[in-house]
Amino acid sequence: MPIANTLKQQLLDQIKADIIKQNICPDLAKSAKQLVFEDGNPDADIVFIGEAPGKNEDIQGLPFVGASGKFLSEMLALIDLKREDIYITNIVKYRPPNNRDPLPEEKEAFLPFLQKQLDVIKPKLVVTLGRHSMDAVLPGLKISQAHGVPKRYKGQVYLPLFHPAAALYNGGMRQTLIDDFIKIPIIIEKIQN
Ligand code: URA
Repeated sequence: MPIANTLKQQLLDQIKADIIKQNICPDLAKSAKQLVFEDGNPDADIVFIGEAPGKNEDIQGLPFVGASGKFLSEMLALIDLKREDIYITNIVKYRPPNNRDPLPEEKEAFLPFLQKQLDVIKPKLVVTLGRHSMDAVLPGLKISQAHGVPKRYKGQVYLPLFHPAAALYNGGMRQTLIDDFIKIPIIIEKIQN
């Protein structure tokens, strides 16, 4: 592992340890099996932010390992990327009971830690998956209008996308998500130039 990467991982490990030490969202922490913090490459150009762990993620301790994760990997393959090429996390890092939507106060409690993760990774592009993660980092937007449109906010470029779980079994939304997703390399190229 390159030195820069190792240092970033140490800083990320510290953020993870702080969530546990500060007992963030104690009720969620109690009902979940474990904290689901991250997967992928801390040196990645692209960070994906999901909503919260589901059942499979809670069991395995990794984000996006269930059906949505499989769909995410399929879309990554369309743009010649693998999970190891990107960094993945969620706004809320414990599984909400029965997969309910994360509460506003839960998103708020985890936001400073997500911000710290982004400060360490310094990605070129942050892709939000679904309205919950979009809302946390780009407040006040409507996903129906904002999806697929890159947005610069406070010096960071974001791309809001629909959530893979919402699009998985909805033909129209699935195609829209794929169409939005394959814009990623063009957006990265534009950022670089
Ligand atoms: N959905 C999410 O938003 N995050 C996961 O980790 C899994 C499913």
